[in-house]
Amino acid sequence: MNPVTSTSTLEICPSDHAASPEERAKRMTNPRFGQVFTDHMVVIPYKEGQGWGRGVLKAYGPIEMSPASSVLHYGQAIFEGFKAYKQKDGSIASFRPEANAQRLNKSAARLAMPELPEARFLEATRALITQDQAWVPGAVGESLYMRPLMIGTEPALGVHASSEYLFILMASPSGAYFSGGVKPVTVWISDDYVRAAPGGTGFAKCAGNYAASLVAQRQAKGEGCDQVVWLDAIHREYIEEMGGMNIFFVYQEKGETVVVTPELTGTLLPGITRDSLLQLARELGFRSEERKISVAEWKAAVAEGRMTEAFACGTAAVITPVGHVKSRQGEWLVNNGETGPVAAKLREALLNLQHGLAPDSHGWMKTIVG
Ligand SMILES: *Cc1c(COP(=O)(O)O)cnc(C)c1O
Repeated sequence: MNPVTSTSTLEICPSDHAASPEERAKRMTNPRFGQVFTDHMVVIPYKEGQGWGRGVLKAYGPIEMSPASSVLHYGQAIFEGFKAYKQKDGSIASFRPEANAQRLNKSAARLAMPELPEARFLEATRALITQDQAWVPGAVGESLYMRPLMIGTEPALGVHASSEYLFILMASPSGAYFSGGVKPVTVWISDDYVRAAPGGTGFAKCAGNYAASLVAQRQAKGEGCDQVVWLDAIHREYIEEMGGMNIFFVYQEKGETVVVTPELTGTLLPGITRDSLLQLARELGFRSEERKISVAEWKAAVAEGRMTEAFACGTAAVITPVGHVKSRQGEWLVNNGETGPVAAKLREALLNLQHGLAPDSHGWMKTIVG
């Protein structure tokens, strides 16, 4: 495996078994989320005392590590998710990747892991998307989903922060997240489980948060729901998130449309979609608020006709309307179980921006392949 090109920080070693164009086309047809991967990945090693070493872009495939690797025992694992989109003019651009680089480092700090310089994150991103550009789908709503990961790999069972790490970047062509278009979901408000507690890891994108959430997701399924809604750990009253997405509520107040999302308390994951939608909402003429919202308020506001929509948002699925809410305290419909106009408008505004169909007045799109 001889590098074809290299910089001081990244060697490029193309795969000798990349998919043929026919094979690639087949695998890119209606891929299920996160099940198809491109030909390559980037791996960057870290060692205490030496810092981040030279990375390599190489064939996507298994990695070898010791069964004593600390991540397998004590769970030092964080990840990110962002997307690259085909633009109207055929170029490829990525949406706010530097925000993901920065959030990765906030997660890293919380889990006593080393921060990866933003330039190294962006270099890996650029190299992988450039190498695997044929894997970027073209239609609106389709994208190349980028999955960065950092894990502790020191082979030692003592409980301490690992002295060795791997940063890995992989890419997965992604169709519309939910097959069959945007359909409102039914949610289960979880009383039995909490996702995150004050002082914990709620704001970090760490694997353990997800591990702890799966049983609640299973319970929601058992109640006939698609997703779980998380409440705050202390009062079990205030809405925090929906599954692995942030949540928004739409109110009509004195003839004004107000878009409300739970404030960031440290237990919520600060979504980049959430932040982007707060900005887009204001530009579309909606007022926006970040504050606490209780389950009682949700139920009452819908009953009184003050709340007209609820929807969740995140990189993978963009915007998912919430049509039906179930809980031990009863159940109710939002907007008659249908997608509302504000969710639809915000979704379209964001997708248009991401595909270069609307002007990018924020500088959110980073051109990768020109
Ligand atoms: C990743 C994630 C989100 C959404 O973040 P985006 O940056 O918008 O993709 C929301 N909640 C949780 C728990 C997450 O892990």
